[in-house]
Formats: sequence, structure tokens, C-alpha cells
Amino acid sequence: MHKSINASMGHAASPDGFRQITRHDGIFKEHMHDAYKAKGKLPEPAVCSQCGAVFHEGRWQWRQAPANAHGDICPACHRIHDHFPAGFLTLKGDFFRAHREEIMRLMRNHEKHERAEHPLKRIMAVEEKNGTALVTTTDIHLARGIGELLHHAYQGVLKFHYNPEQILLRVSWTH
Ligand SMILES: [Zn+2]
Repeated sequence: MHKSINASMGHAASPDGFRQITRHDGIFKEHMHDAYKAKGKLPEPAVCSQCGAVFHEGRWQWRQAPANAHGDICPACHRIHDHFPAGFLTLKGDFFRAHREEIMRLMRNHEKHERAEHPLKRIMAVEEKNGTALVTTTDIHLARGIGELLHHAYQGVLKFHYNPEQILLRVSWTH
């Protein structure tokens, strides 16, 4: 779980365990394959001591914590604590640079919406360097969703690379 993140952020095609997949790959339909979520059954109810999300009926939700809830840490806060993202999204290109603010706003709005429904879908960090943005997420589906959203709104080139060993997704959008 704590393997080198740097290796997964490189741009090589395969030495780091990533392979290119299509936008319609079966992995996007799977659930509960996240190492941070599959740590055995949590006793319910539980409340995350970091963000207040409540584990109820088998999933993390935003709701009032019952009085008998025991303190735990949700998978999203766990990843944030470990600095171990599940999704890596790279945004680059002339179009991106020219419309950066609008694109970032669209991305943030999407995250806000997703996160309101799903406590485990969060943007961890946005790093910008030489006109390229690297966005890290707590969930592979959020990284994919942002990529799909930008591609749908502006076209450009969208690529996915997946690392099945560590269940990491790299999304690159170039425009
Ligand atoms: Zn939490």
C-alpha cells in the first residue's frame, strides 16, 4: 500500500505496472476493489474522526452520526493521511492553458457535486507546473469522471492507464 507513488506518476508506458485501457474498460464497473476499502468488515455504525462521514449499511455517507457510533477513519481520509492517491489526472496543452480558470472551475464544481453524494470521492491536491496540472484524487472513479467531463465539454485527447496491481488510475487529458 505504501509503494512508491513517484513511480506511478512517471510517464513511461509500462515499467511501473500501468497499461493503457479504454474508456469503457470493465474496471469502471467494478466496486469494492479498492485496497483502502477492502480491509474487512467495519463494525457499524462508525464515524470518521477526520471528516465526520458515517459508515452505515455498508457504505460511507454524509449523515448524522448515531450516538453509539465508534470513531474510525474513512478510506478517503486514510489516503489523504498516507499521501497515497488512487487517481492521477494530468491536464495539459495550449487549450488547457488558455482556458485554465474555466476548466479548473468546472472540475471543482464536479468534485463538489460528487463529494456531496459520495464522501470517498475527493480531490486530494492540484499541482501546477509549466502549464500542466496534476490532480490527485482519493478514488479512481472521480479521476475518470473529471476526464470524461472535460472531454465531453471540450473534446481533446483523453487517455487512461490502469495499474491493476495497486488499483491506481492515471488519466491524461491533452487539448
Ligand atoms: Zn474521513
